[in-house]
Amino acid sequence: MSTKIETKGIHEGWVPKNGEPRQVPVYQSTTFKYDSSDDMGKLFDLEAEGYFYTRLQNPTNDFVANKICAMEGGVAAMLTSSGQAANFFAMFNICEAGDHFIASSSIYGGTYNLFGVSMKKMGIDCTFVDQNISEEELDKLFRPNTKAVFGETITNPSVMVLDIEKFARVAHKHGVPLIIDNTFATPAKCRPFEWGADIVTHSTTKYMDGQAVSVGGCIVDSGNFDWMAHAEKFPGLTTPDESYHGITYAEKFGKGAYITKATAQLMRDLGAIQSPQNAFYLNLGLETLAVRMDRHCENALKVAQYLKAQDKVAWVHYPDLEDDEYNALAKKYLPNGSCGVLAFAVKGGRAKAIEFMDSLQLASIVTHVADCKTCLLHPASHTHRQLTDEQLEESGVAPDLIRLSVGLENADDIIADIQQALNRI
Ligand SMILES: *Cc1c(COP(=O)(O)O)cnc(C)c1O
Repeated sequence: MSTKIETKGIHEGWVPKNGEPRQVPVYQSTTFKYDSSDDMGKLFDLEAEGYFYTRLQNPTNDFVANKICAMEGGVAAMLTSSGQAANFFAMFNICEAGDHFIASSSIYGGTYNLFGVSMKKMGIDCTFVDQNISEEELDKLFRPNTKAVFGETITNPSVMVLDIEKFARVAHKHGVPLIIDNTFATPAKCRPFEWGADIVTHSTTKYMDGQAVSVGGCIVDSGNFDWMAHAEKFPGLTTPDESYHGITYAEKFGKGAYITKATAQLMRDLGAIQSPQNAFYLNLGLETLAVRMDRHCENALKVAQYLKAQDKVAWVHYPDLEDDEYNALAKKYLPNGSCGVLAFAVKGGRAKAIEFMDSLQLASIVTHVADCKTCLLHPASHTHRQLTDEQLEESGVAPDLIRLSVGLENADDIIADIQQALNRI
């Protein structure tokens, strides 16, 4: 039907038939009625397609997941209750106790803890790497039990751009998929599948929602990874699931295997489903995602250029700045702009950073990032407080780093606010 990203964001997913509602209907129902016991039995056996209980699947959620799937260029997708749940499910769907995976150390603090602490307790080991690692060095970190590689298109909060092709090449050489968290770039600015990623995750809480109304997540499968070709590594997909009547997902569902398993097993057992009402809000955000991202990028570039010229500013990182360390990667993977988030520091370190932030009037200090209201936070005193200085450094988060999420207000107003705050310090 549609081809360009703006059009997909508006028309994919829910496609009303004659006389049906123009906007996505909210199926606010936990359960679904069937005429016979046999009809319902077939659903439980995964023999027929249909809805029976919202913990597993809900039509509203599926319409919205299908829209994100189309925007990313994937074959199957599912919504989760949060970005945390999306990243956990994406990894846990193919890793179990005794397994190992590799992740960039510059990823979001919450994911860093999930991988380094909680999943470690489950017996799953993660090796964190500097994402600027050479292909040769990365190659050496693979073990016989390595099952996946993970990174973020644009890292939160250090706004580094990942060399997706490099990571995909090495992952595929070792017969494992590359999982990319595409939260900051969104499919409006980068579609990791076009660069070799196999699975994409999102915290839909951020730009996709866009107005800070609902927490959510999404997992999209490209359908490109051949599980059967590496059957011995992925027994969960390539051998019978005794908890599901001996179904072998990769045989029965082909390209839909990964998402079907995540739904049938992980949602069934762990239950981190998104509410249909939140999926409805998410869909409203998706309708304007592409046009909002253009403005976020335009505003962020203006703010970055302004900050760069200020004496009181120690440094600025924004991949779209010509002299940024990640500009070459941004030009390749994000040719039409990266995102609205930038990182910078004021001279005088931690104390001055706090003084500056407290002087702002328009921009607000919130934990959130990536929505229409300009906001900022100081990771070392907020989101990353639980990390040691060593871990902070490993995550690419300098103690003086301020994460500024440039919103959709007029850029002149955002800059004027920053200017008056800089004048006060
Ligand atoms: C916020 C965020 C997450 C976690 O998402 P929640 O929706 O807050 O659970 C994961 N990855 C990235 C890149 C994020 O920014």
